[in-house]
Amino acid sequence: MITNTFTGQCQCGHVHYSVQGEAATLFVCHCTECQRQSVSAFGMALWIKHPSVQLHTGAVQEWVRVTPSGRQMACRFCPVCGTRLFHQLLGQTEFMSIKPGTLSETSTLQPVAHVWTASKQGWVEIPPQALQYEGNPPAMGVLLEAWQQAHPR
Ligand SMILES: [Zn+2]
Ligand SMILES: [Zn+2]
Repeated sequence: MITNTFTGQCQCGHVHYSVQGEAATLFVCHCTECQRQSVSAFGMALWIKHPSVQLHTGAVQEWVRVTPSGRQMACRFCPVCGTRLFHQLLGQTEFMSIKPGTLSETSTLQPVAHVWTASKQGWVEIPPQALQYEGNPPAMGVLLEAWQQAHPR
């Protein structure tokens, strides 16, 4: 079950966090930025609506990158081990994203969509029930709706 409190930590344990809010969507991004950031095949984002972040230990640092659509995204990470923890578009307070690999509980997470499949690594097979987009989805609302359909309240 997706609960309303999401707890997790960075790799070294300097940062322990909990985020309260409502899971809004979970998707996989195959863009080259996410591949580089995750030093792996893809990135994942768990969007939380109306997030309230608590750091139980440690502190986070941030750097800001400019997205392809020209918006600024704050990327927050552990200053000791570098694990990326949270992303949030500047000026966007309704949503933030948790890098879900840092969560304590990941067994119930199933992405509803895969984006930027144009740069997907060739061996990655996308489950047939997941939405797919070659680039950004036409609107994030599509991904929010797919999540709600998969997790009816
Ligand atoms: Zn750390
Ligand atoms: Zn990406």
